[in-house]
Amino acid sequence: MGYRWLRWSTEHIGHRLTGSSNGRRAEQAADSLFRAAGLDLVHRFAFDASAWSRASVNVGVLQGGAWQDLPSVALANTPVSCNVELDLVDVGNGLRPDFDQAGDALRGKAVLMNLGLVGAPAGTPNLHRSEKTALAIEHGASAVVFVNNVEGHVLLTGTASIDGKLITIPAVCITSEDGAGLRSTMLNDATPRVRITMQNTFANVTAHNVIAEIRGTRWPEEVVLVGGHLDSWDLATGATDNGLGSFSIIDLARCLRALDLRPLRTIRFVLFMGEEQGLLGSRALVGHYARTGELDHIRCMINLDMSGHPKGFGVGGPEGWADLVRTINTRIHAHDTTFEAKEDEHPGLHSDHQPFLLNGVPVLWPICDLGGHVYGCYHSSCDDIHLVDPQAMVDNVRFVGMLVHELAMAPVLPPRFTKAELKERLVQDGLEEPLRLGGDWPFEKAVARER
Ligand SMILES: [Zn+2]
Repeated sequence: MGYRWLRWSTEHIGHRLTGSSNGRRAEQAADSLFRAAGLDLVHRFAFDASAWSRASVNVGVLQGGAWQDLPSVALANTPVSCNVELDLVDVGNGLRPDFDQAGDALRGKAVLMNLGLVGAPAGTPNLHRSEKTALAIEHGASAVVFVNNVEGHVLLTGTASIDGKLITIPAVCITSEDGAGLRSTMLNDATPRVRITMQNTFANVTAHNVIAEIRGTRWPEEVVLVGGHLDSWDLATGATDNGLGSFSIIDLARCLRALDLRPLRTIRFVLFMGEEQGLLGSRALVGHYARTGELDHIRCMINLDMSGHPKGFGVGGPEGWADLVRTINTRIHAHDTTFEAKEDEHPGLHSDHQPFLLNGVPVLWPICDLGGHVYGCYHSSCDDIHLVDPQAMVDNVRFVGMLVHELAMAPVLPPRFTKAELKERLVQDGLEEPLRLGGDWPFEKAVARER
């Protein structure tokens, strides 16, 4: 059913951009589907957010005395209006050493950098586009031109802001092919001149996370939370990012209710909006849970973002969680050998599990490999239903369903992170720098809660 609902949504709603009329229709559709499936306490959690949307963008390059336009898209949270003409300087992959090497030479310039990593030693961690943009601003740059590293004239959008606010300089994405063209010009010692004009809007909107649950029979106040973002970017229908996860969650809710398994703990399903603009819905919900004390009852959070054909489950939690999830992985594998029981203990950032993790909640996620044809269309004009394998969604429901059931039935669950444990883990995983860049490092402000 998940695939059929998703296909219907791509045909009849389209994209699901937060704050747009499409976004509101997606919220209503999800609410109706939860209700039709007979879930408990179906409701929409309203939050206010400043939502960015694009109007127009133009990127021109001065070549041979004439301006030539390049196909481009503005990244989200770029200024509502700008018109700049600047020299373009290449900083390669845009990692901190690249910026440090360029030093003061970037002041007042437009910087050209890769979204992906090109020619970096294996294992080099990449930074998020918003973090690279923050570094550019820190080094005095006046504009950012990202090169998408996917071949085939694909343009990518996404937020350039680390904190959901508007950034102060324009940031755009151009194709891999045009990036290569600019770089070959630069090889001949030329400094290309670029002109960027853009118009965007940034307005206050109210959006809604859509929430439903199956009440626990023995410990109803203890919650196993399954979440994923319903919103998408607007260049296509967001069929894989994150129609795959969000519509799988609705179908999972339907299946668990229909099976009438009577979990001991409450299973709560949350479809977040505003993820793409900066985790707006999950931050709002976690903030609300923190204020009301509900956060202490969230025993773990399972995040489905671009999930399909799970090959195992990863977990970021203190002592006890890795063992528990290994046991569950093994049990699912014994039941179905197509599930490989892969393990991972390193949660990344930039999806809706992040605000939960930073508040000490153990997070879990399906380990997936959707293939280059899908990842190449991430945030792009080609993220449509043709990329979705219906079986990927069936497998989400089957395997995530088994995981959720085990977690909801376990006689005991391991604890949440203490503040000290969380700090140690984040440092070990190399997440301190990106979190500091994003103003999200939880240890110099009163966000992380004591257990
Ligand atoms: Zn996503």
